Amino acid sequence: MTRIQTTTTTHERGTLIPPPQVEPRTAIPAQNLRIPGPTPVPPAVLAELARPVINHRGPEFATILRRVTARLQYVFQTNAPVLTFPASGTGGQECALVNLFSPGEHVVAITIGHFGNRFAQIAERYGLQVSRIAFPWGEAADTAILEARLHELAPYRGVLLTHNETSTGVTNDLQTLAVLIRRQNPDALIVVDAVSSLGCIPLEMDAWDIDVAFTASQKGLLCPPGLMMLAAGPRAWEAGAQARLPRFYFDWARARRSLERMQHPVTPPVSLFYALDLALEMMLAEGLEAIFVRHQHLGDYVRKHVRAIGLHLLADSAHASNTVTTVHVSEGIDAKVLLNTLRERDQVVLADGQGHLSGKIFRIGHMGSCEVRDLFTVLNCLQVRLKEFGFHADTHRSGGIARW
Ligand code: PLP
Repeated sequence: MTRIQTTTTTHERGTLIPPPQVEPRTAIPAQNLRIPGPTPVPPAVLAELARPVINHRGPEFATILRRVTARLQYVFQTNAPVLTFPASGTGGQECALVNLFSPGEHVVAITIGHFGNRFAQIAERYGLQVSRIAFPWGEAADTAILEARLHELAPYRGVLLTHNETSTGVTNDLQTLAVLIRRQNPDALIVVDAVSSLGCIPLEMDAWDIDVAFTASQKGLLCPPGLMMLAAGPRAWEAGAQARLPRFYFDWARARRSLERMQHPVTPPVSLFYALDLALEMMLAEGLEAIFVRHQHLGDYVRKHVRAIGLHLLADSAHASNTVTTVHVSEGIDAKVLLNTLRERDQVVLADGQGHLSGKIFRIGHMGSCEVRDLFTVLNCLQVRLKEFGFHADTHRSGGIARW
């Protein structure tokens, strides 16, 4: 009989690279976080993250996934299955493209800002033939221009569009655009980035005949970053069966097969599912219509007071977003310096502009867990700091910032 020889090795001392010299962990002071995502998470939802982790293949997780999926279908206003992936919004863009199209296929990208451009760019990287219909930053897609351009560009397999463009604070009239696209090309796949609109601004996926819509957890859903949700209707599933772009992690078919067993193809972030579960419950308790009305009020409030301060809005007023407001800084003031001052002195955190608007505009996020009183503080601090920077606010028009 052969005996198995066992040897124990002890790690030789001195072979490890030294531990890193890092800054000590410190508490981050409370902030009034008003960037257009991630957005503040209600304390009760944050507390869910502290619950013990469970088996993602067990019955408890299945119960959560079943509930979350049904509630997400309601939020998307669809009967289609809603797939959740551990990913951010950009993952949603990539996931939609790789499941719908084949190399060389022609798609039209309607872009009104930074995130529309990103969507088009990803499509190009995957070898699609992308025709962009670009509108100036600050404006929504114009229906007459769109109609003419779509006519010229036919045939095309899909249309990519952004519901709410977070870089410019503009909301496209999605319902009207969907009707227009469908009239021109009944078979086109209408693919909507709803990252900064879903759960805040009305979107009725089935009623508006949208083929694919996706969002991310950290925007309007009262949840921390980390989850991406995507709904695909019947036309999209048919297209998916023929689509030849490579995919594995984001493969819808795999995700759907797992969902039928109330599981995930990979290890899901179970703690985030606890958070999303409660967040959706809170949203449904408030009511979707009530949430839309609250966001309308938030948008109106910010726009009114930013104008009263004497600043100018970037977004065309007919399409200004109710989840993010974009503001020009006046001559001689650098938006970055203003934002640093607000963060360091007032703990008010706003976002810089993106792309060519960096340093020229700032963005105030008002989506998800947000009330007028949060914005009252933001606008007051803004007014004070602007005055220190030599900007003379016109308070006569408003008599100051209205309380809630
Ligand atoms: N699409 C839109 C409309 C967005 O606002 C964002 C992010 O703000 C993205 C896509 C990309 O999302 P993420 O940064 O989560 O990848």
